[in-house]
Amino acid sequence: MKTASPIDFTGALQHAGLDPVRARAPEILQLNLGKLCNQACSHCHVDAGPTRTEIMSRETAELCMHVLRDSSIGTVDLTGGAPELCPSFEYLVAESRSLGRKVIDRCNLTVLSLPKYKGLPEFFAKHQVEVVSSLPASTQSATDAQRGDGVYAQSIAGLRKLNAVGYGQPDSGLEVVLVSNPVEAKLPGPQACMEKQWKEDLAKEHGVLFNRLLTITNMPVKRYADWLRQTGQEQEYMALLKDSFNPATACGLMCRNTLSVDWQGNLFDCDFNQMLGMGTAAGAPSHLREYNLEQLKGRPIATADHCFGCTAGAGSSCGGATA
Ligand code: SF4
Ligand code: SF4
Repeated sequence: MKTASPIDFTGALQHAGLDPVRARAPEILQLNLGKLCNQACSHCHVDAGPTRTEIMSRETAELCMHVLRDSSIGTVDLTGGAPELCPSFEYLVAESRSLGRKVIDRCNLTVLSLPKYKGLPEFFAKHQVEVVSSLPASTQSATDAQRGDGVYAQSIAGLRKLNAVGYGQPDSGLEVVLVSNPVEAKLPGPQACMEKQWKEDLAKEHGVLFNRLLTITNMPVKRYADWLRQTGQEQEYMALLKDSFNPATACGLMCRNTLSVDWQGNLFDCDFNQMLGMGTAAGAPSHLREYNLEQLKGRPIATADHCFGCTAGAGSSCGGATA
C-alpha cells in the first residue's frame, strides 16, 4: 500500500513559492443553511441527513441579507444539507435577487420529488437561479452506490422537471450545471471531455439537457474520511492527493474569493474548513455580525492537509476544475 509523503500542505506551498494563501475581497457569499438533507450520501463532507436538526434561523438569514445589501459581493451560493429544506430558503433567494445579485442553489435533484417542494422548478425559473446539482456518474449503478438506491432515477426525474421550465434549453438563460465526483477513491476524469460524453449520453438515454459539467475531488473530510478509514484507503488516497499536487491550481483556490457562512452565522474560508471547525484567521472577523471588508481582505487562509484535495491534478472547487 502506498503511504502519504510526510510533506504537509504548507510545505508543498512553500516549495512552490506560494505560501501563504491570502484571501481577496469576497466575491461569493456561500451560505450553508444547515445539515438537514433528504439524503445521506456515503461521500458527504457535511455529514448531512434527514435526522440532522441544525438549520439557519430567520434572524441569521436576515443578518446575511443585511450584510449583502451593504457589500459589493456579486453572488450568493446556497448550500447545505439540502438548502431548500431551510424555511428561510425562499426569502434568501428572493431578497438576494431583489438586490441584483446572482444566486446559485446547490440542489441535490431528489428534493424536487418531495411533494412539498414540487413548485421549486418554477420558483427557480422565476428568480433565474443557477441550479448546480450533484450527479456522481452518468450511470445508475455508480450513482446509486454512492447516493442510495433510486437516487439516479429521481435525479433524472428532477432534471426533466427543470428542463420542462426552461433549464438547459438553448437561449432560455436558465442554467443547470451538473457536478460529478468520483465514486471510487480516485481523482476526477477530464472535465471538458466528460461534459461532452455526458451531454451525449444523457440526451440519448433519457432525453435530458444540462449546460455544464463540473468535476470535483472528494475531500477527505467527515463522512468521506470515515469511509476511507473504514475501507483501509485513507493512506493511499492521501498519497494520491499529495503526489498529484499541482501548483497551477493555487491561483484558482475558491477560498481566495469565497466567504463561507455556517447556519449560525460563523465565518470560514470554505465549506470544508467549516465542517472541520477551522475558523477564519485570528484578527479577522469570525461572525457575520462583525463583517468588515478591510479585515477580511488579505487575511491568511487557514489550511491543512485536506487542502491537497483542492490542488490535486486539475484542481477542484465549487466551480469545478481550476487548472
Ligand atoms: S452530499 Fe449533498 S445530497 Fe448527499 S447527504 Fe450530503 S448534502 Fe445531502
Ligand atoms: S480546503 Fe478550503 S482552505 Fe483548503 S485550499 Fe480548499 S478551499 Fe482553500
